[in-house]
Amino acid sequence: MKVLKFGGTSVGTVESFSNVVEIILSKFKEDQVCVVISAIGGITDKLISAVEFASAKNPKYLEVINEIEQIHYKFLKELVLNGKTNHTEEQITALLSSIEDKLKGIYLIEETTHRQSDAIISIGEQLSKTLLVAVLNARGIKSTNFEAAEFIKTNSHYSNAEVNFDITNKLIREKFRKTDRYTIPVVNGFTGSDTYGYVTTLGRSGSDYTATIIAGALSADSVEIWTDVDGILSADPRIVGEAKIIKEINYNDAAELAFLGAKVIFPKAMEPVKAKRIPILVLNTFNTNFEGTVINEKLGKFTSEIISITSLNNLSMVSLGDITEEINYSVLTKVINKLNKHYLPIISLNHSLANRAISILTYSKRISEFIEELREELKLELEHHDVKKFSIVNNISLVTIIGNKTDNQPETFKKISDTVERLEISSLTYLNGTEGKNYSFLMDKTDTKDVIQALHETFFGDSLTANVA
Ligand code: ADP
Ligand code: ASP
Ligand code: MG
Repeated sequence: MKVLKFGGTSVGTVESFSNVVEIILSKFKEDQVCVVISAIGGITDKLISAVEFASAKNPKYLEVINEIEQIHYKFLKELVLNGKTNHTEEQITALLSSIEDKLKGIYLIEETTHRQSDAIISIGEQLSKTLLVAVLNARGIKSTNFEAAEFIKTNSHYSNAEVNFDITNKLIREKFRKTDRYTIPVVNGFTGSDTYGYVTTLGRSGSDYTATIIAGALSADSVEIWTDVDGILSADPRIVGEAKIIKEINYNDAAELAFLGAKVIFPKAMEPVKAKRIPILVLNTFNTNFEGTVINEKLGKFTSEIISITSLNNLSMVSLGDITEEINYSVLTKVINKLNKHYLPIISLNHSLANRAISILTYSKRISEFIEELREELKLELEHHDVKKFSIVNNISLVTIIGNKTDNQPETFKKISDTVERLEISSLTYLNGTEGKNYSFLMDKTDTKDVIQALHETFFGDSLTANVA
């Protein structure tokens, strides 16, 4: 069995949606399939902005709803032909009305919780799933609407929920036991539910994770992630037009690349399939004959000393200094608990007892609420000068060069520093990489395009691929 996942970019237009249907049908001829679908491209962003407008009592949220409605009715009209739209139209209308009702509530009380927000933004996937089931059925293929919230069980970290695999794996196996070779289950990506039954979401781009969770539970033969690029490349092709295809990459390197900024695959997606060695293929919906990237347990044979260049932008560095020795750990614990409460991941942590300092690199999103609460939490320590310095720097970027060997560091590092020096970037800090294999530096800059382009030229020049499978 194969799990096929189609991202928002693959179903962004009526034409590409139809293309996806053809891909599903051709795969279905060869093998049993389960399909995981994301919201139509751009819809999740629109839903998030509608929530933000409504909670700020800005009636603009109605305009956004209107755009979302128009897009879905257009898809419905153009995709589901043969007059078979009636029942589907009712379902789409019901989903759209539930978005509107929920937003109206938020608008009236002028505030929202992550829980309410998850209940709304997950509807994007419900809508695309409803369309896909209808189109497949209209083509004479039996397909069933599977609700992910029924079997992907998570904690209550709304917007970034953690999966409980013991329960989830059991529920998935039960749910899929009765599916036969000739029916296509279509699952809404990105979605789960907590122990109270409330809908949760798995984090932005989380539909990849939904696919691998299902594949892991069912011991599928493979997972195919269908997207809008040829596979995992040596850099984001939107930044480096001539980025090279990585034909084969192992689970850990792919996860690292994703965590450090390569949006093409969700960082946690490798976890559920790694132990069972289920390969993940990253394929292009718009170039179906291309073989793409395979993520597996093997080490690809790389032609360059590095695998890929990536960056994370909009980061903040929170620094605390001159901390009284006895309270150093308690301050660190307070900072970490607060980060956790605000779902702010630690990208890098520097805790030095010798310098009596703590510095943490995290995302800038929601940072002001975090800082405000942390100041309150450390009020006494700050007043009593047990913590003398407390500062925050925003607009930081982290550029990472993922290497593939550990033996020629000085040479690789020299190439990196020479390249960066030519660009005359001020305020550059090198960080220690993992396993002595990666090279990361922080820059006081939000746009990293020129740096990535220059580094790519240094390492890949005019080679055709980053490696061979
Ligand atoms: P989907 O809607 O299919 O989930 P995403 O937008 O989440 O698609 O991911 C695909 C995008 O990831 C590409 O359009 C590309 O711009 C971006 N990307 C970033 N880094 C890389 C990389 N190293 N290789 C390939 N694509 C990348
Ligand atoms: N639709 C969600 C997002 O845009 C999930 C996904 O696309 O994977 O983040
Ligand atoms: Mg994605």
